[in-house]
Amino acid sequence: MDTVQYLVVGAGMSGLSFANSIREEARLRGKSANGGPSLLVLEADDAPGGYCKTIKDSGFVWDYSGHFFHFKHPEIEEWLRARMPQGVDADGKEAVATVKRDSRIRFAGGEIDFPFQKNIHQLPREDFIECLHDLYFRDAGAGSVAPANFGDMLVRRFGRGIAERFLVPYNEKLYATDLSRLDVDAMGRFFPHADIGDVIRNMKSPDNGSYNSSFTYPRGGAIEYVKAFLVDLPPETISFQERLVSIDPSTRTATTNKRTITFDKLVSSAPLDKLVTMCGLPFDSAAFTYNRVLVFNLGFDRKGPGGVHWMYFPDRAVSFYRVGFYDNIFGDDRMSLYIEIGRPKDGVLDEAEIARLKERVLADLTREKIIDGHQLVASHQVVMDPAYVHITKGSLAEVARLRPILAAAGIYPVGRYGGWTYCSIEDNILETRALAKTLGAVL
Ligand SMILES: Cc1cc2nc3c(=O)[nH]c(=O)nc-3n(C[C@H](O)[C@H](O)[C@H](O)COP(=O)(O)OP(=O)(O)OC[C@H]3O[C@@H](n4cnc5c(N)ncnc54)[C@H](O)[C@@H]3O)c2cc1C
Repeated sequence: MDTVQYLVVGAGMSGLSFANSIREEARLRGKSANGGPSLLVLEADDAPGGYCKTIKDSGFVWDYSGHFFHFKHPEIEEWLRARMPQGVDADGKEAVATVKRDSRIRFAGGEIDFPFQKNIHQLPREDFIECLHDLYFRDAGAGSVAPANFGDMLVRRFGRGIAERFLVPYNEKLYATDLSRLDVDAMGRFFPHADIGDVIRNMKSPDNGSYNSSFTYPRGGAIEYVKAFLVDLPPETISFQERLVSIDPSTRTATTNKRTITFDKLVSSAPLDKLVTMCGLPFDSAAFTYNRVLVFNLGFDRKGPGGVHWMYFPDRAVSFYRVGFYDNIFGDDRMSLYIEIGRPKDGVLDEAEIARLKERVLADLTREKIIDGHQLVASHQVVMDPAYVHITKGSLAEVARLRPILAAAGIYPVGRYGGWTYCSIEDNILETRALAKTLGAVL
């Protein structure tokens, strides 16, 4: 039987960040890599990256949906960038571009800037008047009772006009669920809040800034950030095509498809409901709902709309909720899109359904005038399952109940799916660095 001090589940951003950080903690404590912690990363797939993998086809560079990087902590960005390609390539394109976001919303055949609630003055006159009227009188009848759920919060805070034109249909398409199921704070800091003062102020002095007002993106795709985490990690630290199958928390023993491993600490980026099932612990499975996102990456023979990086589509008649334009990041001369479609966690999403949806997407892109006689020259698709977890009162309670039970057995769920949360890649790095510091303190 193999024994390791730290068993990490998943070679995505969270698992790789933890692996680097725990080695760094050992180094800081004067333990060399060899004399330091024994560490093994299990990865079920045959490649690292998790959702930050990149696909290259016919000159197009695509991710599992657009993965853009925004850093609030310069030291994290510096650490990563020091381990990534530098400068410009032969075409004069930067290895990593820093881009000021241009994101728009398609509404009634036109476009307005994102976020919708701060740009209602760009709407057709009737829509503008209704949105402004309902925003102004939004609290009528609501009294002082706090919003009961996410859907209620949208109407109560922004009024029916804004909610019904954008916030409700867009989020229903994305989350593929009734918004009354979601917690008021289901999107945390990622929700662009605005009060009536912000909305009016924006009419004269536009300020559409948010957490991702500018972002970075590597020419080689999101995988370049993953590769940065591999630079200092000895290759034998990661075991690919090795899936964790079950855990005995009482003996701290993990069984994979290849062997049995005893561990002191287990750090897992696998979805929390799967982790708890592997541990054989009782839990409320109904609390763990989520959507799946079907992503089509499409490459065309020539350029499409210029400038914009991504567009939101609240119209329920349109199959997708968002379209991203990779070609506008680096000024490429062929349109390169990612298309996102939200689906509930259950329901048919087989090859035939995906083929049907692809036809529909192409028809919708034509109707929306994004393609106009363009030839599709390359395509790829992936189902992100899970994609956006549903943060509900039930899921928050189960996560809070399960964490200490798992920690008592030396098991630490991390990442967006381990923590069953809404977060960015930088958050994954911050969380795993902090955990490595805590666990490393007893090295
Ligand atoms: C549509 C969409 C768009 C997004 N866009 C952005 C963005 O632009 N910017 C941003 O910052 N964030 C974005 N995110 C969030 C980002 O994808 C995640 O925060 C991040 O990728 C999570 O990394 P992770 O390592 O925690 O999980 P994952 O990437 O899911 O990695 C988990 C790894 O664990 C492996 N694994 C799972 N179970 C087992 C097992 N039993 N045994 C062994 N291995 C296992 C998996 O194969 C996988 O490789 C987006 C998310 C979605 C859904």
